[in-house]
Amino acid sequence: MTFSMKTRTTEIEQLKTEKLDLLVIGGGITGAGIALQASAAGMKNALIDMQDFSAGTSSRSTRLVHGGIRYLKTFDVEVVAETSQERAAIQHIAPHVTRPKPMLMPIYDEPGTTFTMFSVKVAMDLYDRLAGINDSDYLNKYANYTLDKAQVLDLEPQLNSDKLVGGGVYLDYLNNDSRLVIENIKKAHDLGGIMVSHLKAVEILHDETGSVRGVKVEDMITREQFDILAKVVINAAGPWSDLVKDLDDQHDASHSQMRPTKGVHLVVDQSRLKVPQPTYFGSGTNDGRMIFTIPRDGKTYFGTTDTDYSGDLTDPKVDQDDVDYLLAIINKKYPTAKLTIADVESSWAGIRPLIVEKTAESEVDAVSGASNAGNDTAASAVSRGSSLKQAHDGLITLAGGKLTDYRKMADGAMKLIVKILNQQFAGKFKTVDSSEIQVSGGDFDSTNAENILNEYVQDVMKHGINAKEAQRLVHLFGTNYRQIIEDIDNTQPAAGLSIAETLCLRYSLNEEMTLTPGDYLFRRTNNLLFNHDHIKDLETGVIKEMSQYFGWSAAVTKFHQDQTDKLISESELAYLK
Ligand code: FAD
Repeated sequence: MTFSMKTRTTEIEQLKTEKLDLLVIGGGITGAGIALQASAAGMKNALIDMQDFSAGTSSRSTRLVHGGIRYLKTFDVEVVAETSQERAAIQHIAPHVTRPKPMLMPIYDEPGTTFTMFSVKVAMDLYDRLAGINDSDYLNKYANYTLDKAQVLDLEPQLNSDKLVGGGVYLDYLNNDSRLVIENIKKAHDLGGIMVSHLKAVEILHDETGSVRGVKVEDMITREQFDILAKVVINAAGPWSDLVKDLDDQHDASHSQMRPTKGVHLVVDQSRLKVPQPTYFGSGTNDGRMIFTIPRDGKTYFGTTDTDYSGDLTDPKVDQDDVDYLLAIINKKYPTAKLTIADVESSWAGIRPLIVEKTAESEVDAVSGASNAGNDTAASAVSRGSSLKQAHDGLITLAGGKLTDYRKMADGAMKLIVKILNQQFAGKFKTVDSSEIQVSGGDFDSTNAENILNEYVQDVMKHGINAKEAQRLVHLFGTNYRQIIEDIDNTQPAAGLSIAETLCLRYSLNEEMTLTPGDYLFRRTNNLLFNHDHIKDLETGVIKEMSQYFGWSAAVTKFHQDQTDKLISESELAYLK
């Protein structure tokens, strides 16, 4: 099944002529989760994104699938129960992307601390209990435990020993956000859905009765505008979801729902800050925030900030204040590191699609059916939960939540969509069991994932690829590694690229709708974030190969060169150094 620029052209023609059951606006994790279930349920569906898939918040998270243990401090038991159970469900459907990894939580005796040694053990036990974990294999391998001060320092010698009283170790899951999105999208496409990036919704269309019946879109590559007709339209535009509602002339703009905040992460080499395992601690600044330091591919990244945001949603930037805040915390917690901005190799900023808990007059809550007048909103009323609403003209909006909740959020939306299609359009659809639909590349036994992934790595190495590259290839692409290496004996490396990188790039161009160097370097492979040592060489090789593949003119190649230079320079924080 190819999924490339060529199929994009054919599928756009299909969109112009066929009436869909469902159109999804937004190709982040929320839209991708819905599209996967709609395709599995046999709906004629399409998903559109005005940028690359996952280019919004879903490539800019902390890259964890986690239940939010800190919410147990405020006994937010219901929220934590749901998300902590969901971690294993996501690992089951995407076992190459989401992988279990114990988290260390050092405990300090400092003002505003989130947990003490007593409360951390209670919280960890409750966390495991809420996750419904009673499997003895699991308990043998991942049961939580506490450490005394000396043991914490043995594990992580760079940690500040002052006021350190001990620590807890509990299970959470490392994730790769943009890979999870693309693997969902690829599976949805394999199952018959039409998935098109760089197609922007510019107007919500209505029939003569005033009900939503489609969307006018603009192709951001050709600038052509056309209409897509659909029985049901769902807005899954994350931080942009209010802006998409504004495309509906029947929507009252005063009823906005979003209160976006910005979160920033910085990446340094492990030679400057070495953490052996993901670590999670209070900021020590009495602001109630928790900070992660996470090892990945020889680097350590840390974050995040959480500040109200009203700037450009498409291209949020890391500010000097963000850098100062994070470096001060890290240097206090790891005093020998003495990090400065010069150590920051790469960075990213993302916008949380946080929702304000109110129901607009023109909308009904799609779960409860309640309709409330909008209230004034205090910052404290901002929820990290999700919201599924249907406007009176039929436009559905699914927003908020966390990446960890995406499958459950899609489950909720699908119940509503199936009900509408069956009741109003005489459909015969049923919801699907999304907990058993493995994403592209994830179709192997998730209960034995680490062993199986190791076997795949060995298999790749038999073809002359070194261990590091083989591991990377398998962890990025899962079982699709077989397709990637199948023609290795007849392939020459592209100029400036290793054979493994050449094969990954070609696969990604043919099977993952990679259209720009940034799609590949940032979102399909994360080279931009965690491979800074080689990023300029990779940039040259990737642009050269893509230029040949697409037949770009010198001017188009220069455009992509400039765009990629800008992406790298911004990620390096060149504008602050
Ligand atoms: P997005 O990913 O933003 O997708 C919306 C899409 O809609 C975008 O791709 C955009 O291009 C598209 N779009 C907008 N307007 C239009 C239009 N007019 N036409 C077509 N397309 C349009 N969650 C976790 O579970 N674990 C974490 O570790 C975690 N860490 C986080 C750290 C940070 C700093 C942030 C900011 C968030 C974090 N989250 C985490 C939350 C999680 O990342 C988000 O909840 C999730 O990615 C939101 O996905 P989404 O699909 O709703 O939005």
